[in-house]
Amino acid sequence: MSHLSVAKFGGTSVANFEAMTSSANIVMADANTRVVVLSASAGVTNYLVELANGCEKEHRDEVLSAVRQIQYNIIEKLQNQDAVKAEIDNLLDHIAALAESASLATSAALSDELISHGEMMSTKIFTQLLVESGHPAVWVDVRDVVATNNHYGKAAPNDEKTQQQSNNVLKPLIASGKIAITQGFIGRDDEGKTTTLGRGGSDYSAALLAEVLGANDVLIWTDVPGIYTTDPRVVPNAQRIDTMAFNEAAEMATFGAKVLHPATLLPAVRSNIPVYVGSSKAPEQGGTWVTRDPQPRPTFRAIALRRNQTLLTLSSLSMLHAQGFLANVFAILAKHKISVDVITTSEVSVALTLDKTGSASSGANMLSSELLDELNAYCNVQVEDDLALVAIIGNNLHTQSGVAKKLFHTIENYNIRLISYGASTNNVCTLVKNNEADDIVRSLHLGLFE
Ligand code: ADP
Ligand code: ASP
Ligand code: MG
Repeated sequence: MSHLSVAKFGGTSVANFEAMTSSANIVMADANTRVVVLSASAGVTNYLVELANGCEKEHRDEVLSAVRQIQYNIIEKLQNQDAVKAEIDNLLDHIAALAESASLATSAALSDELISHGEMMSTKIFTQLLVESGHPAVWVDVRDVVATNNHYGKAAPNDEKTQQQSNNVLKPLIASGKIAITQGFIGRDDEGKTTTLGRGGSDYSAALLAEVLGANDVLIWTDVPGIYTTDPRVVPNAQRIDTMAFNEAAEMATFGAKVLHPATLLPAVRSNIPVYVGSSKAPEQGGTWVTRDPQPRPTFRAIALRRNQTLLTLSSLSMLHAQGFLANVFAILAKHKISVDVITTSEVSVALTLDKTGSASSGANMLSSELLDELNAYCNVQVEDDLALVAIIGNNLHTQSGVAKKLFHTIENYNIRLISYGASTNNVCTLVKNNEADDIVRSLHLGLFE
């Protein structure tokens, strides 16, 4: 089979007619791109999350009309508006009905059903745009392909079933010369209900589909021409990284570099599929290739920032010389489906971070009162908010002399609440105050990269 690329376009790349046209041009210019995965138009998912969390009629109407306006602004510029407008109106009616239900009682399954409509709408419109340009595009409901468990808001894919459904649904389409246009972010559970993979999950969808299709690469088209040494919005002097390794990119994504969803690299690593990141507005500027073993591998590669972290400090005198304290703490966290990020321990206490909002689609707070009650019954619990995780990503950081000195020297004027160094060869994590995080990232970038 000839070269097959799966291309993914994020929210800003399908935000309006102009952005969609640039994205469509990229698809049409590359004969290898035969599967296209889209996010919802920028802003739409946030609005749908608001509706899913339940709101009063007046506010609901405002939000609905904002969503309608985003989609109508694009449709108005199509040559043949009627066919797709009827479909969008139908989806908007569904959204209105689901939003009304959510205002009475919210549920995780209802939220996912509602939130999935953003991707349904953007893909309908984009397919029409390509068809009008004479491209053999067909709309595919990705829920017929991506199977997941029923962990609504952050569902995990069922790889075997997805593989099977891809063989039945997607492969024959591609083999017949069609270009499949489909949704990122969403899937379906065994009961037939819609699920979502967590915010920003379209990158992950694209990598999953690439894996089951045996694609040659995944092309992530976004609003920056590649992966940079840090978020270029925070540090305008950040430099583009031309080639980097899977594990470096995975660490960056895990520790907050929003340019890739943290799970994107899982299928890529498993099946050794190169991932490209480029700008849909300026494809000529080139981008970043993420591959298994590119050279060179510098000691300092990048800085990642994740805001709004929560630090839990759990202490108990009975931890002194006792066995099982950590095991019990982790059992409680696991029961509440919380995964721990950064952790340090002392004789009688353990400090650990949770990403406050998680990446669950509905933005539900991870630190539920049930979890706190259970922890409080077992040990003393101290909660600190307004923290940010700043991670320095690199290679062999723990075996190089002078790394810690350089880092501490660079940020000597700031208070570091917690540091984790040594567990991974690829990162050093620090927890700092939210309101100092940008300055710290800028100082680190100046010290390490400029
Ligand atoms: P999309 O909607 O296309 O998925 P995202 O907003 O999710 O786009 O991701 C792109 C954004 O990621 C950029 O606009 C940039 O601000 C941010 N970002 C964070 N860290 C980095 C980095 N190291 N390199 C490039 N972009 C980054
Ligand atoms: N539309 C979803 C979100 O905003 C998924 C994505 O864009 O990747 O999170
Ligand atoms: Mg994204």
